[in-house]
Amino acid sequence: MAASGYYLDVNLLNMTPDDAEHRVAAWVAEQGAPPYRVDQIVPRLWARPIGAWDDATDLPRALIAGLEQWSPILRLERQAHQTSADGTVKFLWRLPDGLSVESVWIPEGKRRTLCISSQVGCAFGCVFCATGRMGFERHLEPWEIAGQVRELALDPAFGKPTNVVFMGMGEPLHNWDGVDAALTILNDARCLGIGARHITVSTVGILPRLAQLAARREQFRLAISLHAATTERRMAIMPIEKKYPIDRLVRSLEAFARRVTFEYVLIRGANDSLADAEALARIAAPLGALVNLLPLHPGGAPGLEPTSGAQTRRFARRLRELGVKATLRRSRGLDISAACGQLRVETEASASRPRMTVTSSSS
Ligand code: SF4
Repeated sequence: MAASGYYLDVNLLNMTPDDAEHRVAAWVAEQGAPPYRVDQIVPRLWARPIGAWDDATDLPRALIAGLEQWSPILRLERQAHQTSADGTVKFLWRLPDGLSVESVWIPEGKRRTLCISSQVGCAFGCVFCATGRMGFERHLEPWEIAGQVRELALDPAFGKPTNVVFMGMGEPLHNWDGVDAALTILNDARCLGIGARHITVSTVGILPRLAQLAARREQFRLAISLHAATTERRMAIMPIEKKYPIDRLVRSLEAFARRVTFEYVLIRGANDSLADAEALARIAAPLGALVNLLPLHPGGAPGLEPTSGAQTRRFARRLRELGVKATLRRSRGLDISAACGQLRVETEASASRPRMTVTSSSS
């Protein structure tokens, strides 16, 4: 886990709470300050976050100046946001190196879900995905992942989400070190304190990393981006199938011993026949997996068309007849660019300047 990271020699926000407490305790002692200062400093990282050390008004000026020098609080800059008529809000964050990533805020009754990114771009090239078409740029650091939540926790108009899903840009298990630390920061009561059952990691199925996720003691939820239920069908839309084919993925899930959700974007003619539904049921039913059927986001994938409403209902009915619990998800934020990677693609396309100086902020 990166204790310092890409930008700073010491970045407390990149540390798990045990590490942060030790480092701050040693630093406070070096400054000749009393040990109780540790309990005033550490909660300001995540549990009661502040935008800058200057806002820690319970600390003496000398300690604030020292913290600013030693480990300044890095921020994600809100570069743009779009609000949908259904309440979904999509954010584009500029990272300190000028790259950008997205998050999506999805309110539903009392639940406020934030969909977060784990990488800039993605190496996996799923054909229905705007992020996949960008290619891979870099992994996010732990603070950049959990920082998407932190930024909203700092904003009284939003606050801390109740649920977090790793379904934004990037493949979380490809960035295992960053995501592993970010999961701790999201979940630990000394940090953001979001319950493990309210945090979902969604992956195409990188099997060695899946085993590492399964080995964690917290009951994080797992979603598999399946999108096709046979090797032949999946290979045509998800290149990961070559490396980690479905039969091996299913064997890993059998060993996972936790409830799994399959994400399945319905694409006309590619994966939406009743034979596809039956193949999906053969995998999902024995695992007791829930299937989330998702509409293809219009405009997110050139050359692909969404399945019709009637065929979507037939597909779902066939799954249910075969004993599979299937939900039909509405596509949230249809009037904004809510498909993975679309806001960034559009922001860049509309800017005549290089990415580092894009300023299309609507915030
Ligand atoms: S669906 Fe996920 S894994 Fe596939 S290209 Fe998009 S971000 Fe990457």
